[in-house]
Amino acid sequence: MGFKDECGVFGLWPELEASRQTYLGLYALQHRGQEAAGICSRDGVKLHLHKGLGYVADIFTEATLDRLPGNGAIGHTRYSTTGGNVASAAHPFLVEGRFGQLALCHNGNLTNTESLRKRLIQAGQVFSSPSDSEVILALINRAGAATLEEAVMEALGQVQGAYSLLILTQDQLLAVRDPHGFRPLAMAQLGEATVFSSETCAFDLVGADYVREVEPGEVVIVDAQGVHSRFPQPRVRPKPCVFEHVYFARPDSLVYGQSVMATRRDMGRLLARRHPVAADLVVPVPDSGVSAALGFAEASGIPFEFGLIRNHYVGRTFIEPRQSIRSFGVKVKLNPVRELLKGKRVVLVDDSVVRGTTSRKIVQMVRAAGASEVHMRISSPPTTHSCFYGIDTPSRDQLLASSRDLEAIREFIGADTMGYLTLEDLQVTMQDHDGQSFCYACFTGDYAVVPEGLT
Ligand code: SF4
Repeated sequence: MGFKDECGVFGLWPELEASRQTYLGLYALQHRGQEAAGICSRDGVKLHLHKGLGYVADIFTEATLDRLPGNGAIGHTRYSTTGGNVASAAHPFLVEGRFGQLALCHNGNLTNTESLRKRLIQAGQVFSSPSDSEVILALINRAGAATLEEAVMEALGQVQGAYSLLILTQDQLLAVRDPHGFRPLAMAQLGEATVFSSETCAFDLVGADYVREVEPGEVVIVDAQGVHSRFPQPRVRPKPCVFEHVYFARPDSLVYGQSVMATRRDMGRLLARRHPVAADLVVPVPDSGVSAALGFAEASGIPFEFGLIRNHYVGRTFIEPRQSIRSFGVKVKLNPVRELLKGKRVVLVDDSVVRGTTSRKIVQMVRAAGASEVHMRISSPPTTHSCFYGIDTPSRDQLLASSRDLEAIREFIGADTMGYLTLEDLQVTMQDHDGQSFCYACFTGDYAVVPEGLT
């Protein structure tokens, strides 16, 4: 029940059924964004775009996919960070400029958008949305370079923050990862085609073979000449987002070349050793707490049970009865299995606590179902700071752990005992020997790229 999701990108070239494969890829990346989705394809004549608000399954039909011909495509699932939840902010963005038609998908968040926007507007640029992705497109179009490839390199020299990008033109597909590699981007092979995806679970669905990560700072270019790679910016110490392993990514994905399922199980094992408790059941908060709860159960010897059942068919919004005096909130998504919980001492395992209001409702729900004790265990350290790298987080003052100690958090949540994974334990699970190889800023406030507003 951690931070809100972010976005997923998928693209490939050259593949006969590029848009249909991209549609499948987006299906596998649906968990990364449910507010909007889009696909842009190229057929040697022009770029074709279809995008809209909602789930991938609702946006695309046979007919819309038929209108996305060609052997190259990029796609995006979106959870809004900058730009709001409006159709114009959905990706890919398609523009026509100095280099012909150009489409772009972005996972991440620039940290110097405001100053870039101001500068560009003063220079005569117009924008149709508040999206930082439009800023990148404007920088590419206004670059002094003679070719698109060089213009992209020039634009990248001006942007700061988090960006995993896919850029499609008539002649090229470019995959770009920022120098810190905040957001993931992996590469695979499907026959002749080079495939890119935020997570490897999408490769499994289309039958592509995982090759490697796109390296932090790397630009991989696919065109008629084949595949080549460049590192246009000075190298820095990479800081990929550790929260991908805590919560965002699907457990069946490899992220940064490491199994998400295995990492989460390790988190659960270490959590059990760090915060042992006498209990009858280990119950995950589904779905993101499941892998850590399995590890907790394994290390503690306490039986694992699905004591909370998740309704997977709830959309982002739902309509409550008009006369209702109570808020349905968490109840719509989760329901306790009373027969399992009654009279039991329960260890609840979740991945993180943000505002704490959801955790409090879940603890109440488990108690109301008859549990005699509820012990909360969190498989990451306290989240004390906001994310500026493409994850939708509340402001710092709304984060429960930003101003409370462990006892005050326990009291707010209403658990009998409370325990978090330590930062050091998290670093052990990530095999991060000097504690410097990932971004942990939402736990530490140590921002590798300080956002404009904080300077
Ligand atoms: Fe990930 Fe947290 Fe860093 Fe944001 S601040 S990139 S959520 S680790």
